[in-house]
Amino acid sequence: MYLFKHVKELKHYLNALRNQNAAIGFVPTMGALHKGHLSLVRAAKKDNVKVVVSIFVNPTQFDDSGDLDAYPRTAPHDIDLLTTENTDMLFMPSEAEIYPPGVDSSNPFDFGKMASIMEGAYRKGHFDGMAQVVRRLLNIVGPDLLYMGQKDYQQQAIVKKMLEMMGSKTRLRTCPIIREPDGLAMSSRNIRLSAEDRKKALLISKTLFEAKKEASLFSLQETRKRALKKLAVPGLKVDYFEVVDAESLAPLMHFEDAKTVVICTTVRVGGVRLLDNIIL
Ligand code: AMP
Repeated sequence: MYLFKHVKELKHYLNALRNQNAAIGFVPTMGALHKGHLSLVRAAKKDNVKVVVSIFVNPTQFDDSGDLDAYPRTAPHDIDLLTTENTDMLFMPSEAEIYPPGVDSSNPFDFGKMASIMEGAYRKGHFDGMAQVVRRLLNIVGPDLLYMGQKDYQQQAIVKKMLEMMGSKTRLRTCPIIREPDGLAMSSRNIRLSAEDRKKALLISKTLFEAKKEASLFSLQETRKRALKKLAVPGLKVDYFEVVDAESLAPLMHFEDAKTVVICTTVRVGGVRLLDNIIL
């Protein structure tokens, strides 16, 4: 695996590959890698000749500097994992490489309600920061295929929209959520859970799985009410539990109002915000 720290060298290497018509897959991450991330790398390896993984904890998508500081950073371990996966290129840039001084790389797109509900309502400017870094990384890597996780449902829906708005040649592949054997969605943040909170966190996926079953028995309002009741336990704080159109992310009144329906939730357990979702 080649490790690149500078945009110039990575671009130079990628240009040579492109001249040989090699299909390039790209997996952007913030590191602290787990099996969820590795599933994206494996999917990318299957579809492409060469795969680039990036690790960059993007400061512009954090509205809370405490959360940014607490974000786990495990570079040596990440490098080991990616080497084992036979990753071709790892890009680990500094902040100055991604946001060179004097260059305006702010997000020019208006995603409307898609970016102001759910995560957008709880993390001010989060999706602007996310779009900013993804657009910059796409401009550097120029992949044929981009791999993201269903785990961050709203994020991948907004990136899909952004690719359309950019008229990009890059196609998005959204990969399924990888879960722990007991159902908890894998997340870099899980290592911050105490043993007791780890047990409580299980209720999130359990409630989503049950909601999917109950959706065929009850109305949307009733299904949502039953789920919220299950999650109303000491130690858990539900930020949102929304039933939305899988494409537009518009909140729904009835399950029949969308071709595909997804339930997205974020629950705080201890000091840790955990995201999960399920497609009905
Ligand atoms: P992150 O490092 O958290 O920014 O995540 C990088 C990519 O990995 C994003 O596209 C995530 O949606 C994806 N990802 C994170 N956790 C999982 C998971 N449990 N299963 C599948 N993909 C995931």
